[in-house]
Amino acid sequence: MTYKPSTIAIHNGLNEDQQFGCVVPPIYLSSTYNFTDFNEPRAHDYSRRGNPGRDIVQKTLAQLEGGSGSVMTNSGMSALHLLCTVFLQPGDLLVAPHDCYGGSYRLFNSQSQRGAYQVQFVDQSDESALQAALAKKPKLVLIETPSNPLLRIFDIQHIAQLAHDVGALVVVDNTFLSPILQQPLSLGADFVVHSCTKYLNGHSDIVAGVVIAKEEKWVTELAWWANNIGVTGGAFDSYLLLRGIRTLSPRVLQQQQNAQEIVKYLKSQPLVKKLYYPALEDHPGHEIAVKQQKGFGAMLSFEFAGDESQLRHFLRSLSLFTLAESLGGVETLISHTATMTHAGMSAEARAQAGITDSLLRISVGIEDSQDLITDLDHAFKVAAQR
Ligand SMILES: *Cc1c(COP(=O)(O)O)cnc(C)c1O
Repeated sequence: MTYKPSTIAIHNGLNEDQQFGCVVPPIYLSSTYNFTDFNEPRAHDYSRRGNPGRDIVQKTLAQLEGGSGSVMTNSGMSALHLLCTVFLQPGDLLVAPHDCYGGSYRLFNSQSQRGAYQVQFVDQSDESALQAALAKKPKLVLIETPSNPLLRIFDIQHIAQLAHDVGALVVVDNTFLSPILQQPLSLGADFVVHSCTKYLNGHSDIVAGVVIAKEEKWVTELAWWANNIGVTGGAFDSYLLLRGIRTLSPRVLQQQQNAQEIVKYLKSQPLVKKLYYPALEDHPGHEIAVKQQKGFGAMLSFEFAGDESQLRHFLRSLSLFTLAESLGGVETLISHTATMTHAGMSAEARAQAGITDSLLRISVGIEDSQDLITDLDHAFKVAAQR
């Protein structure tokens, strides 16, 4: 029997405890496991290599994405680092989006500078630039869609096809949508990575990541290396992540609903110059989003039309929008891209990527949408009076 995502999220790991009949799987904090006899190990020997709680969350993540298996790691960054460690040798080429997550950009750049592998950053919506990069026969191609912070959409099926034609493996960073709204393996990707810190956990209280592989042989390889280099997720984080995943589907759907209502409000707000949300019909890649996503998600950005002083007053006047980085939690967050998430980028690079100093990004939470809109409306009124 194959279940739908919301059933998978709830059902895995329930009632497996033999000793006390616990409905919810307990946290096994033990770092080590005894052997039943000389040379007779059990399923687990040492918690870095594996522990029962992580087994459940890995199985759940793999099922949600439609993969053969997965490896949970201690951050989204270590998930990407693990993948590159396993599949890229010195001299091998990685093709990554020029506007990928800032931490990913820094990782690939620094690793290529010390010779671990080579990297080429390209605008994957520029077909000729993409073709030129693929002609160099990369080993691995990373796709990130929707992109951060402009929510640009890239065609996973199309890029994966081109990449496979030159013998590359394809990984999609699916952090911004979660498997509830997009399943890249079904569109031709070989791997999915997540920062589980975001939607999957959903409560902004752990840092974790995962690599999910389509093929079993890659799972074995990834698991071996994850243990070898010691980047696996801990028992406590595995427990919290599974607990977060239980409510993934209703959270994401409510967040998305709230985002749609906020977008509707922002459209008629004079202090909003430009709005970025994939549901908008003039949004770049809107048609691709309709084709490959099950929804438009709960991330949106907009350009604030006032000056810096008005922007400060706007941000200070918000009560329900926390000025903070990160995303995907139940609480609504707002960030100023140029001074926060993308501060590490040079002003020129930001300009090239279309990120202006007035760009604000919102990760919509599950508060009451009318309360959120009332809060926004109050802050816009304060700013307008300045
Ligand atoms: C946050 C994030 C990461 C990095 O994950 P961490 O859990 O912070 O290490 C990678 N990719 C995307 C798209 C992210 O948003």
